[in-house]
Amino acid sequence: MPIDNSFAELPPAFYTHLRPTPLPAPYFVAASPKAAALLGLDPSDLAHEDFVAAFSGNRVPPRAKPLSAVYSGHQFGHWAGQLGDGRAILLGEIATADGPVELQLKGAGMTPYSRMGDGRAVLRSSIREFLCSEAMAALGIPTTRALMVTGSHQQVVRETIETAAVVTRMAPSFVRFGSFEHWHYRNKHEELKILADYVIRNFYPQLEGGDNPYLALLSEVTVRTARMIAHWQAVGFMHGVMNTDNMSILGLTLDYGPFGFMEAFDVDHICNHTDQGGRYSYANQVPVGHWNCYALANALLPLIKDTDAAQAALDVYVDAYGEQFDALLHAKLGLATVQENDRALFDDMFKLMQENHVDFTLFFRTLGELRVDVLPDGGLEADAPLRDLFIDRPSFDAWAVRYRERLRQEGSRDEARRIAMHAVNPKYVLRNYLAQVAIDKAQQGDYSEVDRLRAVLDRPFDEQPENAAYAALPPDWASHLEVSCSS
Ligand code: AMP
Ligand code: MG
Repeated sequence: MPIDNSFAELPPAFYTHLRPTPLPAPYFVAASPKAAALLGLDPSDLAHEDFVAAFSGNRVPPRAKPLSAVYSGHQFGHWAGQLGDGRAILLGEIATADGPVELQLKGAGMTPYSRMGDGRAVLRSSIREFLCSEAMAALGIPTTRALMVTGSHQQVVRETIETAAVVTRMAPSFVRFGSFEHWHYRNKHEELKILADYVIRNFYPQLEGGDNPYLALLSEVTVRTARMIAHWQAVGFMHGVMNTDNMSILGLTLDYGPFGFMEAFDVDHICNHTDQGGRYSYANQVPVGHWNCYALANALLPLIKDTDAAQAALDVYVDAYGEQFDALLHAKLGLATVQENDRALFDDMFKLMQENHVDFTLFFRTLGELRVDVLPDGGLEADAPLRDLFIDRPSFDAWAVRYRERLRQEGSRDEARRIAMHAVNPKYVLRNYLAQVAIDKAQQGDYSEVDRLRAVLDRPFDEQPENAAYAALPPDWASHLEVSCSS
């Protein structure tokens, strides 16, 4: 496996070379065939002991120059100073049809940036990151990828004693907003420029040679971030820890921890138990994404050198988000045209979902089954699966009258719309309880459910009648599930 490392060509101040700390008796947990295919690997080979040794960090490929990168960041709105890869080690990059992809081992042992941490990741959080990375990719949402998970019986102390695992992550780059903030706050403008030039040269080559490539970088990242968050909102994904050190300079969903998918709809839902104030609630993700772009702009300002232009680049966030979210909503409702009153139709829909605690995923999926041409008094029966999601059915009925009217206006055809809506409204998302079932089994040594769940989430838009149980509402016991920053 040839392993180059272009990040290692940056000056030494950007990272520390080091080797992963071996884990005792590493074993195979799961692999993603789609991620493997991106690298031209046969997924069945990944269970082989050579790959398990390589991706647990126990055997470093010969020419690799592994390293951990330094970065800083704002955590929960406060400047946190230096952070860095406290438990991640970049092995290097592999050439693919889409350009070089970096392979990073998360949980590979202590680094100079570990601070109080132990450099490890637990099996529970590694399975969650693995499943969600691949599920998001299958949903068509920009994300880092996860190739595989290896485990070890080595004990790791969290709230309870758990065991260690390593996720092999993939992305063109793991550079974060916080990577830029790091140099800005240290007043190291030379390093700031080196990093910006590196990112532009390797990942935004179209911006090279322009008037103000750093301003163009800010613009591009702002737009990508806004669009990424619009995709999150449209599928009910909540990241949970949108600190600037978890914001990818490529606009990818990065660092899966206490994330969640919206179930009973509540715009103020907080998925991260540690986030007492709800800074990263569902609704707040949108302004926080903007705030994070401000932090990036502030860091890039010594290079951009034009405050007004930077401000203008940031202002684009609101429209970029709005346009993307609006387009996604039109698709989710099967609307082929844009009309004046659509905004009110959407707002009232979300209001009803909120008041009735309607399951986000189930609502949009079931909405695709709605028929426009029901007989006047046959409507209620035809809508039964959808109506039944609401406590206040008359209010739903009133909204459905408007929705049907809107569909008739554009001559919408039931069958074509159903197909189009099912292609954008997933039937299957990574509900917390599904992940928990897979994790509970894995902690007993049975990894089969991780793979089964991965396979279901690999085709989120397909009906998969044999897997319908995976689309079910959370069972009662799941209401006690809490996810926190502990990982
Ligand atoms: P996160 O909230 O997982 O994005 O992590 C925030 C910072 O804490 C990053 O710099 C991580 O590398 C670091 N970190 C988190 N957990 C650990 C750990 N167990 N050991 C070392 N560093 C960690
Ligand atoms: Mg992080």
